[in-house]
Formats: sequence, C-alpha cells, structure tokens
Amino acid sequence: MTARILVVDDLEPNTRLLEAKLTNEYFDVLTADSGEEALKLIREESPDIVLLDVMMPGLNGFEVCRRIKADPASVHIPVVMVTALNETADRVRGLEAGADDFLTKPIDDIALMARVKSLVRLKMMLDELRLREITSEQLGTLPGLSGVGADAVESVRVAVIDDDPFSAENLCTVIREAGYDCMQIDDRQKALKAAKAGEVDFITISLNLSSGDPLRLCSLLRSSEQTRQLPILLVIGDGESERLAKGLELGANDYIVRPVDRHELIARMRTQIRRFRYEERLRLSYRHSMEMALTDALTGLYNRRYFDTHFEAQIQRAGETGKPLALLMLDLDSFKAVNDTYGHTVGDEVLAETARRLQENLRTVDMVARYGGEEFAVVMPDANVKEAIAAAERLRARIADKPFKVSTDHDKELWVTISAGLAIASHDPDVTDLIKRADYALYAAKRAGRNQVHQFPEDADFKSTVSAA
Ligand code: GH3
Ligand code: MG
Ligand code: MG
Repeated sequence: MTARILVVDDLEPNTRLLEAKLTNEYFDVLTADSGEEALKLIREESPDIVLLDVMMPGLNGFEVCRRIKADPASVHIPVVMVTALNETADRVRGLEAGADDFLTKPIDDIALMARVKSLVRLKMMLDELRLREITSEQLGTLPGLSGVGADAVESVRVAVIDDDPFSAENLCTVIREAGYDCMQIDDRQKALKAAKAGEVDFITISLNLSSGDPLRLCSLLRSSEQTRQLPILLVIGDGESERLAKGLELGANDYIVRPVDRHELIARMRTQIRRFRYEERLRLSYRHSMEMALTDALTGLYNRRYFDTHFEAQIQRAGETGKPLALLMLDLDSFKAVNDTYGHTVGDEVLAETARRLQENLRTVDMVARYGGEEFAVVMPDANVKEAIAAAERLRARIADKPFKVSTDHDKELWVTISAGLAIASHDPDVTDLIKRADYALYAAKRAGRNQVHQFPEDADFKSTVSAA
C-alpha cells in the first residue's frame, strides 16, 4: 500500500520529522511550508492524503482545509488536522472545515501510521469506485451512480462492546448525539452473533473487557466472511500500546484513547463508515454491471469488453499518479485434456470453479476478468512487485492445492493447475505493451513446465527480450 502524502507545516523541523517517519514506511512525501503552497501542490500533484498544521501565518490550516473541501477537484482527498494537545476547540473548528481526522502533537508513531493507513484505504476504495463508475457510464450500462462521497448518517447501527456500564453508557450517549443508532453489548459471543446477523454497521471494542479477550473478538470478526469488512474501532486506556499494536495487526481499523473526545470519536467513526459504505458501493456497482452484461455468463466474472475499457482507464490513472499497477495473465494448464477426457460440461465446471477461487482470493479493488476461453486477467491497482508476486503465488496455489469436483463422477477428484505471467506498469505505461509483457511472462511459465508464476523482467527491454526468445 503506497500513497503520496502532503505534509504542511510552517516550521521546517516539524515537516522534516513527519517526512522522515513517513518515508521510513515507504510513503511518498511532499512538503509545503505555507497554506498557499499547499493548495498549489494539491492542484499540481493531487496527493492522496494531506497532513495539515493548524497554526500557520497567512492561510491557516482551517482555511486551507475549507478550500480543499470546496474544490470539486480535491474534495475527495482526506485531510488530517495536526492540532496541539487538548485543543478541543480546534477539533470542532477542524470538523466544521471538513477535516477527516486529527493528530495531536507531539505525534505518536502508532497513531500516525494507524490514521494514515486507514485514510489511504479509504482513498483507494474511493478512487477505484469513481473509476469503475466512469467505465460503466462510458459503456452506457449504468445511469451513473451519482453522489459518490455523499455520507448518509441515517441508519448506521453502532455496537459498543464494553462490560463496564458507566463507560458503555458514556460512549453510547456521544454516538447517539451524533445521530447514529447505538446498542450496548457486554459479551463477546453476543457481539459476534449480532455482527454475523448483519445487525451492526460499526463496532467499538473496549480493550479492558473483563469477560474474555477483546482481541480474540477482533480476530473472529476478521476471519468470518460476513464481518470481514465491518469497521472496528478499539477503545483503549493509557499504556496499552502493545495490545493496541496487536489489535491493529489483527485488523482493527482504528483506535481512540480514553478519556474519549467526542469530536475525535465522531471523526474516526465517520471515516470508517465512509470506507465501509464505499466498499459496499463497489460491490453494488459490480452487481449492477453484471446485470448489464458486462460479465461472462459461465464464470460470473467481468468479460473481455469490460476489461478492455476499464483497464485502459486504470492504466491512464497509473500514468498520472505514478502508482504501480500489476497485470496478471493466467491460463489453465493442459485444459484441452480436461475437455477431451471428461467432456465439455466438466470443462465448464472447472472454469467456473477456477473463477470462484480467483475472486475469493483477491482484494475488493482488484479486478478479475475472463480474458479468453481458459485465460483470465487480474488487474491489481497499487500493488508493487512483491505484493503482486505474493498474490499471484497465492492464486496459483489455490488452484493447485485442492482438487476440483467432477459432477458426473462424484468419486473423481480432478487436479488442475494454472500458469501465470506478471507485468508491472512502469512509468508511462501502455495498454498493449503491458498485456504483451504479461503474455510473454505467461508463455515463459508454460515453457518452464507450467503451474508456476513468471514475471516479465523489469529492467529488460521488451523488444530485445522477445527477439532473443
Ligand atoms: P496449455 O497448458 O498450453 O495452456 O494447454 P491447453 O490445453 O490449456 O491450451 P489450448 O489452447 O491448446 O486449449 C485450450 C482449450 O480450452 C481448448 C478449448 O476447447 C478449451 N476451452 C476454451 N473455452 C472453453 C469453454 O468455455 N468451455 C470449455 N469446456 N472449454 C473451453
Ligand atoms: Mg490458452
Ligand atoms: Mg491453457
């Protein structure tokens, strides 16, 4: 997960410190020492996130935030206000100016990374959603799911998991005042049950539960299909940073420290709920497209027509943002033999099951399409070489490691493998070129014996590699 982050502060040591911390985590950092310069950089470089100091001569942080949020070109960029400790009034003003989140100085490392990562996730989801809607509109299949970015507060159901009645009641009061529905649950099992039943849109978990380990609840929520995306906010006390780190690692989305500041709580919740909603919208837009014949009837995946249009748009965006984009071409091995031995119907079943396994093992933002007869294409936005190879390997293994069922012969187990070719979009990527590279790598994987992943050599010139083959 990479992102371009703009750090705005009039004091150079402050920008330097944040720059060092973020660069260390492989974020791409831009800096500005005034509000005016920040607005200019936002127009020219469209960063993914802005960390914005409040106190600056000239345009202060509130005004900069207001202008970012007033401009349709930048309204989607998450803004984090960096405020002095305990300045509640600043937080209120920040929220009014449209800020998405807060950090307090001096900036704590865990807080910085938790917030930045959660906003990057939100931004990624939103970018992909907007792009898919444009593609669907271009193909004339969607009347345009307008209103991306609209945040409906109504009917958000929050569950507060806390067995201390006093603290639970406090949280619930704040949450209800913000216009959300809120229920208190004092028991891990009940919480899990309600979440799985789809009765909850957001969950806060107190780390000081006396009945059972709250981190166990985190991991149970993350490992279940129905609750995997559910936003989780940890509520922690002072000095719990070790368990907090564990909780974030287990998949909690964010945290807040007691005594809970109501403005901070609401800002955090709003960010997570938006991300959750965008994810739902992504799934919804996928369903819409499917109904509109952009998918392949046999496998349910996007078809070649959708792939061509959407891939073109993704490539263009990668070129503009400088972010990596991975293309994976996959082809079933010796598939002709499956048809010849078991018949075309069984072949069809294998194709459908392959598609299912591919889709289940990718992120929501990844796009998988049926590219040809027994060939699939996967596009992974914002995935670097290492991540893309890991994903490709995982897909390969998910096909090879478990036999396929044969409907005409229930005792028969069919072992199937797939070969994959990977290409990463470099600077100035080109659609045809990237597909050729991935195809070339796929061909190399086949030649090397099948059931493997090959990557197109990054440093090699495409033409010379091909002619050398
Ligand atoms: P390789 O490992 O080199 O990819 O060998 P292969 O046998 O998979 O490749 P080949 O291209 O020779 O054969 C592909 C086969 O896939 C031939 C074609 O009939 C079959 N096929 C393509 N689309 C479908 C489909 O929709 N259903 C079924 N059952 N078979 C399909
Ligand atoms: Mg083939
Ligand atoms: Mg094949």
